Amino acid sequence: EAKRLGGNRFRVFEPSYRTVADSRRDLIRDLREAVRDQYFTLQYQPVVNAQTRQLVGFEALARWTHPVLGPISPDRFIRLAEEAGLMHELGSSLLRQACLTAVRWPEPLWVSVNISVEQLYHRNFIATLKNNLEQTMLPPSRLQLEVTETIFMEADATTYGVLQSLQALGVDVVLDDFGKGYSSLGYLRFFPFSKIKLDASFVRDMLSDPRSAAIVSSVIALAVDLGVAVTAEGVETTEYFERLRDKGCTETQGYLFGRPMKQQNASCLVEMLTRKESFIMDSASTALATN
Ligand code: C2E
Ligand code: MG
Ligand code: MG
Ligand code: MG
Repeated sequence: EAKRLGGNRFRVFEPSYRTVADSRRDLIRDLREAVRDQYFTLQYQPVVNAQTRQLVGFEALARWTHPVLGPISPDRFIRLAEEAGLMHELGSSLLRQACLTAVRWPEPLWVSVNISVEQLYHRNFIATLKNNLEQTMLPPSRLQLEVTETIFMEADATTYGVLQSLQALGVDVVLDDFGKGYSSLGYLRFFPFSKIKLDASFVRDMLSDPRSAAIVSSVIALAVDLGVAVTAEGVETTEYFERLRDKGCTETQGYLFGRPMKQQNASCLVEMLTRKESFIMDSASTALATN
């Protein structure tokens, strides 16, 4: 077939081939521009004390709306930014945004920021973080940094040192997506994380699958024995919440108490709860604040 088309054959195959390569290259170019123009925003998802139902803080989640392609998932653009060497700059600017937002919330509400591998191992990471805390005047105790076990794939002699510097600064280091990978248990021995975030996949299956339920119970028991907090991710209904609470889970996060929301809506929610003076959350207050 290609031969029959003779000299034109590349015109037949080239376009789709070029489209893939081009679109990736274009996306990285757009990403670079967006980083330069600080076009990324954060949304904030409430984290709730599982025993008291009180709001304790928010996880900051990055968002990017491409002018033509629309919203791009953070899983995708974070990976691209890492590959393009843009993650230190992007991460620093997001960290700054998060600190500026959180410093306006009443004590002791905290913000939790995801940190990727490239960012953590950048030679200026700790200095940039210190700077950020000083300039925004956010007390380090109100900042938490979430890392996944992927940081251990590139672990070297400096890994422990970086994590320790964070802890020395008074910033909590949280192990995200616990159980999703292969050897999370070993990492708990390597470093004293302040908190474990139980991956949403276990939570999702815990009501239908006894094995997942057993794993959830064990991780919670493990956290209790280690003396660290444990947050369940992906809590979407009251049934999940109550089960996790009864198992002794420390915190929950999920659509039940609120989706990731714009900064203004998060502040609005905080204001409403401050007026109530108890900080006890229900889905209604979230709905009110975000409408
Ligand atoms: P993550 O840190 O594990 O964040 C939790 C993800 O679960 C978020 O997805 C959140 O929107 C989603 N989620 C929360 N509650 C529920 C629920 O009840 N049900 C369901 N189905 N999903 C829920 P999102 O925002 O798409 O972020 C995906 C991942 O991208 C994050 O996973 C994190 O690894 C990464 N990410 C997001 N923002 C940043 C960032 O600023 N820096 C870095 N390095 N990574 C980020
Ligand atoms: Mg996270
Ligand atoms: Mg997670
Ligand atoms: Mg994740």
